[in-house]
Amino acid sequence: MNTLLGDLIQISMLESEESQLKLEKINLMDIIINVKDTFKQVLQSRKSNLIVPDEKTVYILADKKNMEIVFNNLINNAINYSDSGDIIISLKYIKKNIVVRIIDQGIGISKDNVQQIFERFYRVDSDRSRETGGTGLGLAIVKHILLAHNIEIKVDSKVNMGTEFIFEIPVLKN
Ligand code: ATP
Ligand code: MG
Repeated sequence: MNTLLGDLIQISMLESEESQLKLEKINLMDIIINVKDTFKQVLQSRKSNLIVPDEKTVYILADKKNMEIVFNNLINNAINYSDSGDIIISLKYIKKNIVVRIIDQGIGISKDNVQQIFERFYRVDSDRSRETGGTGLGLAIVKHILLAHNIEIKVDSKVNMGTEFIFEIPVLKN
C-alpha cells in the first residue's frame, strides 16, 4: 500500500468538514489489546514485549477508529525508533482522568528537534533516514486527532535513553 498517499488522504479527511468525530463510549482497553495484537509479530521477531495494563475496562468518550490510529502510530514509532527493549503502555488515574504513557527505550529525540516532531513531514535525521523510516506524518496525525478530542499530547525524551508520549483522557463511569 502507498502509505504516503494513505497518510495524506487521512490527514485531509481529518481536516475536511465531513470528518466529524464519531464520539461514543468505548473501552480504551479494547484499543490497547488490538494494538498489541497488530504488532505482535514484529515485536516477537525482535524479542521485545509490549507491556500493557491489566485493567479490564476503562471507558472513555472517543472516536474509536481515530483513537486506534493514535495508538497505532505511537506504537509504530516506539518500535521503529528503538532497536531493542520493551515498550510500555501505562495508564494511571489522576482524579477523573486517565493518564496514558507510551514509553520506549529507543534512540530518543534531542532538545533541538523535540519541538518540531509534530510538524508534517518533519523527520529527525531524514538524511540518515532509518530503513524503517516513513514520511513524517504519523505524529501530525496523532496530534490532530487528539486535539479534535480536546486532548493535548506531550513528549519527554532523552537521547539514547528513550521517549515517552503522554496524554490525558477523561474517564466515563462504568
Ligand atoms: P510516518 O509518517 O511513517 O509515521 P515518521 O515516523 O518519520 O513517518 P512521525 O511519526 O511523524 O514520522 O515522527 C516524526 C519524527 O519524530 C520521526 O521521523 C522521528 O525522527 C521522531 N520520532 C517519533 N517518534 C519517536 C520515538 N518514539 N523515538 C524517537 N524518535 C521519534
Ligand atoms: Mg511514525
